[in-house]
Amino acid sequence: MATGYGLKGRAAVVTGSTSGIGQALARALAAEGVNVVLNGFGDAGQIEKDRAALAEAAGVSVLYHGADMTKPAEIADMLAYAKARFGRVDILVNNAGVQHVAPIEDFPIEKWDQIIAINLSSAFHTIRAAVPIMKAAGQGRIVNIASAHGLVASPFKAAYVAAKHGVLGLTKTVALEVAEHGVTCNAICPGYVKTPLVEHQIADQSKARGMTPDEVMREVILAAQPTKKFVEFDQLAGLMLYLVSDQGASVNGAALSIDGGWTAA
Ligand code: NAD
Repeated sequence: MATGYGLKGRAAVVTGSTSGIGQALARALAAEGVNVVLNGFGDAGQIEKDRAALAEAAGVSVLYHGADMTKPAEIADMLAYAKARFGRVDILVNNAGVQHVAPIEDFPIEKWDQIIAINLSSAFHTIRAAVPIMKAAGQGRIVNIASAHGLVASPFKAAYVAAKHGVLGLTKTVALEVAEHGVTCNAICPGYVKTPLVEHQIADQSKARGMTPDEVMREVILAAQPTKKFVEFDQLAGLMLYLVSDQGASVNGAALSIDGGWTAA
């Protein structure tokens, strides 16, 4: 097993890790010898299959907690569960997120509330519960998966863009509060990554803009990224592993773009 980042034996909670980016990040942590609590929605049988397969492949302890990221009490319970089962929580990755694409005047109020809850407030609740554990241990790493949309906007994504800008504000505030305790808090701002979230967006954007899905992919999605390529899971994992390693100790309160140059324009 690779131990290049010196993470063996540490414990992590990764929200929204039953799919897409969160699943890839949880797998990358497990491959480095980190015990992981998975979280997210999906088919119960599939989640259990994935959990057992990851534990077997990586030779670490992999648990699952089904906390709904819109429910503060469930979130607190998940952090308490991780601490009780592993005796520590060294790494928290706030990744759970959803999207809804609609013009502002038609944006459903319940979608606004849901996106703010899952994409922004859930990170407040997880961090609030994790920081006392990390401070007591004198070390910890918090990585918030924000977005290029934490730095710039696109039309029809009012709630998502507002939530992701909020995540950067939360990241900076927490970074200042934990800096003297061996804890860091940073945000990763990916451009487009080909996950179910983006595949749904292609369909939604094609409705909102009156374009075919192929046109959306070419003229909207990849048009934003100067490389004209999706960001890959292992590229995101490499950045996260650096941030959570001891080498990442001086990176704190940063919003790190990994977007093929999107936000340079
Ligand atoms: P995804 O849809 O593949 O995965 C989202 C995960 O969040 C799933 O595990 C899902 O079950 C979970 N989730 C959703 N609602 C939840 C809730 N209420 N409680 C608990 N879990 C919940 O999406 P993804 O593309 O992998 O996105 C992951 C993160 O990356 C999101 O925060 C997203 O905003 C961000 N991001 C994605 C892209 C991209 O292009 N895919 C780009 C930038 C940022």
